[in-house]
Amino acid sequence: MGVCESCGNDYDKSFEVIVAGVSHTFDSFECAIHALAPGCDHCGCKVIGHGVEGDGIIYCCANCAKQSGLNKVRDRAEPPRAATA
Ligand SMILES: [Zn+2]
Ligand SMILES: [Zn+2]
Repeated sequence: MGVCESCGNDYDKSFEVIVAGVSHTFDSFECAIHALAPGCDHCGCKVIGHGVEGDGIIYCCANCAKQSGLNKVRDRAEPPRAATA
């Protein structure tokens, strides 16, 4: 049905991903991630979750963002404040 543009596999269950109006065909999510997922600007790993974005640059986690000088982000939410009764 479609040839994976990442590995070239011709697979009947291939699927299409449209990015910015451009269609891409893959045989697996792994191939789609390989081709389309942004890389962390600090460590280079593929960002397949939400990631952390600052100043238009994408990082895989707050630690990488911090090491690149972005101090405003953090991985975890603020701890819940003690309830004042
Ligand atoms: Zn593939
Ligand atoms: Zn990273």
